[in-house]
Amino acid sequence: MKVTPTKRIFFINIWLIFTFVLINSYPVVSREQKKIKLKKYDGKNTIIFCFHDIDGEGKYSITSDEFTGILDLLRGKYEVYSLKDWYEKVQSGYTFQRPPVVLTFDDGYESIFSIVIPELKRYSFGATFFIYLERYADSSIAYTEIAALPDIFEIGSHSLTHADMEKLYKNNLNTFYKEIFLSRKKLEYLVGKPVISWAWPYGYYNKDLLLMAKRAGYEIQVNTDYKTTNDEFSESTFSRYTVQNPDPVDQVKEILAKNHLYR
Ligand SMILES: [Zn+2]
Repeated sequence: MKVTPTKRIFFINIWLIFTFVLINSYPVVSREQKKIKLKKYDGKNTIIFCFHDIDGEGKYSITSDEFTGILDLLRGKYEVYSLKDWYEKVQSGYTFQRPPVVLTFDDGYESIFSIVIPELKRYSFGATFFIYLERYADSSIAYTEIAALPDIFEIGSHSLTHADMEKLYKNNLNTFYKEIFLSRKKLEYLVGKPVISWAWPYGYYNKDLLLMAKRAGYEIQVNTDYKTTNDEFSESTFSRYTVQNPDPVDQVKEILAKNHLYR
């Protein structure tokens, strides 16, 4: 086919229009938008989940299938850490590529060894286990297992006897100190690692207690106030969402969906 000069100009024009449309249809991210995008993963409004037993009994125990269902919801979409790793990352100004989620397990049920830890390893998810020492009073094996855990798992203190700390602070200061301070020292001795996280038994705490826990050496404290950690960096306690029956998978789905970073 012979291409006349007129035809050539026509084709060049078509090509230019096509290129123009292509360039303009590509999403342009301005510097300002980029900044906002990075800022939203700075870890300030993180979802921290609180689990208890798996395959056990009662309102706070979920089945192993439900637990796996929850981990599947998180896989590939979120960065999943222990409290310590998440906190250190936030403090260092780390930028998360995906919204961070923290997993915590209270009370040291046997299922953390038989179900939780093997499952989390399969997903490469970190987590914090809050233990009250009375739970393993007769078992040094538990501490040997805990001491051998990889660093993606953290051990935090949940007191000596799972006492109501508010009540103790009012009525028996000596016991209060033991529950909050001695439990940290004893755990450190038993697992051979620093213990920097504390979970308030039953979620009971007040302003005075936050200060006491800080003085006892805890850098991170958590409650069960059922919200994200936004605006809590000036205080010393972070809120958690307790996962419970019925329909824990739907519950987690809903929590992730209602927080704007997590949609
Ligand atoms: Zn507890």
